[in-house]
Amino acid sequence: MDHTFDLVIVGAGGGGLMAALEALRTNPQTSVAVISKVYPTRSHTSAAQGGVNAALANKDKDDTVELHVFDTIKGGDYLADQDAVEYLCSQAPLVVRELENLGAPFSRFPDGTIAQRPFGGTVKDRCCYCADKTGHTLLHTLFEQCLRRGVKFFNEYFLLSLEHDDGECQGVVAINMRSSAIEAFSARTVILATGGHAKMYWNRSSNAAGNTGDGQAAAFRSGISLKDMEFIQFHPTGLRKSGLLVTEAARGEGGYLLNRHGERFMARYAPQKMELGPRDLVARSMETEILEGNGFTSAAGSYLELDLRHLGAGTIKKKLPQIRELSMNFEGIDPIEEPIPVRPTAHYSMGGIDVNMAQTALCGIYAIGECACVSVHGANRLGGNSLLDILVFGKLAGREAALEAPRRASRPVSPHALKNAAAEIKSYISHKRYERYGIMREEMGKAMADNAGIYRTEVKLRQAVEDISTLRDRFRHIRLFDTGTVYNTNLFQILELKNMLDLALCVSMTSLERQESRGAHYRDDFPRRNDNAWHKHSLCTQSSDGDVKLCSTAVTMGKYGLEARSY
Ligand SMILES: Cc1cc2nc3c(=O)[nH]c(=O)nc-3n(C[C@H](O)[C@H](O)[C@H](O)COP(=O)(O)OP(=O)(O)OC[C@H]3O[C@@H](n4cnc5c(N)ncnc54)[C@H](O)[C@@H]3O)c2cc1C
Repeated sequence: MDHTFDLVIVGAGGGGLMAALEALRTNPQTSVAVISKVYPTRSHTSAAQGGVNAALANKDKDDTVELHVFDTIKGGDYLADQDAVEYLCSQAPLVVRELENLGAPFSRFPDGTIAQRPFGGTVKDRCCYCADKTGHTLLHTLFEQCLRRGVKFFNEYFLLSLEHDDGECQGVVAINMRSSAIEAFSARTVILATGGHAKMYWNRSSNAAGNTGDGQAAAFRSGISLKDMEFIQFHPTGLRKSGLLVTEAARGEGGYLLNRHGERFMARYAPQKMELGPRDLVARSMETEILEGNGFTSAAGSYLELDLRHLGAGTIKKKLPQIRELSMNFEGIDPIEEPIPVRPTAHYSMGGIDVNMAQTALCGIYAIGECACVSVHGANRLGGNSLLDILVFGKLAGREAALEAPRRASRPVSPHALKNAAAEIKSYISHKRYERYGIMREEMGKAMADNAGIYRTEVKLRQAVEDISTLRDRFRHIRLFDTGTVYNTNLFQILELKNMLDLALCVSMTSLERQESRGAHYRDDFPRRNDNAWHKHSLCTQSSDGDVKLCSTAVTMGKYGLEARSY
């Protein structure tokens, strides 16, 4: 079955739903479809715990948008585009109030205003939250509003390709996961909102299984560049065994980190901000402690402790209920009584589809949220700025697409695109010499975690490039063992692996190329930031033979000049 819409949004996380809602508010005549491989409320946005930043000044009365702008630029180690950061932070109070008006149940201060908590790398307490379930509540609020406005949802549809005719948007091709029917979605405008790609670190990641960068890979294959792919954020506190996240809010509420000597070691690395230094710094400090033998040892590997006990049962149950539940279910400990075993975990992709605000280089095609790189987070995102990013740029893209759609001619997706997709899937069944998905997935995760992790060197990164290139070659022989047509999960895993491998090659190649340390990208062999040579965004493009070409583009500066970054 083929479909035609004014706007097709791929992704039903907070970014995609905000875009859908805003498109219909801008022009109620717009026909809007949202395609999602999971049911919308299962998108990774629902896992966001800690909160969303906005300079509302409910807690620190002297907080301002300007301070938020500077924290974000400094946090991103001066790689963020300053015009985009100004837009992000100036829109923050508006979008948070808008979500409040739509019914999002924010936690509140006794005077009834939205409560704000401290978060890493900021000079003021400006993180607005709904206990430790902020993303979950925002996503449900947006989903209700989209249903109310008549957005057409195609749940459990998997994006296969982005289609354009000589740079003009045609739409997308997707497969219905329930029936395996391959369907064309012709659209005057498309917004990609498919979330991040940090799952390429596999079991060293806080991400949902579906954060496999499908939109980024589809954009890359259709000729759009990927920007700043070397910047992967490691969150300091993943649970020791699973990598699942313990929100920064746990430290914001006063939790602290201990090594096996009972020392609050952050005093040696960030004497002023301590555990609330920016994520890159805290994660590196933890990794150093572990590498120097100051971690606790266990069968699941070395770890450190996050102690919340002094906060008391009341605060933990009221403000961090999900953290308690995760600790009990996945580590078998109750943080009211015992410290939580933690270690850094791959968490967020600062890099993604190259956009100017939300617009890609192709006409009618936008990208927003974690799959895009605006860039507002530069080399390191501050906690609480990503939920903000998806709301602000989701809204912008939704409005722009709704205004643009009536001006664009309808260009149907070519039947060849459907045939190509079917041929590719068929080829996975017919391979005689074969590779298995499960084995390759583990090898990819290990190659990335071992050699393109927190501490990087030329030797390690060359190894990562080699290993991922070999896996990409082996992928040509991957075999789809399940030939069924109903919920063929083996097929979707294979498609996701292909996407992750393409992006993993971009991550390791750009990391090898950037011979400096900036934000989340730390090179042991080039431990300093080198603005003369490297104050620029990296770009990856796919060449006609499928290889990755690297180039760069300038950073948009504004009020703030380059400065040393210390906390
Ligand atoms: C555990 C965790 C906690 C976090 N906590 C915070 C926090 O407290 N504050 C903060 O600011 N940020 C936080 N973040 C980051 C933030 O939550 C995410 O960056 C943000 O929610 C991403 O939203 P999104 O709309 O871009 O994508 P997502 O919410 O990831 O949604 C992606 C959507 O794309 C769809 N999709 C993907 N691939 C395909 C495909 N092939 N076909 C069809 N559909 C597809 C999915 O079905 C999904 O609907 C956290 C992240 C994690 C992992």
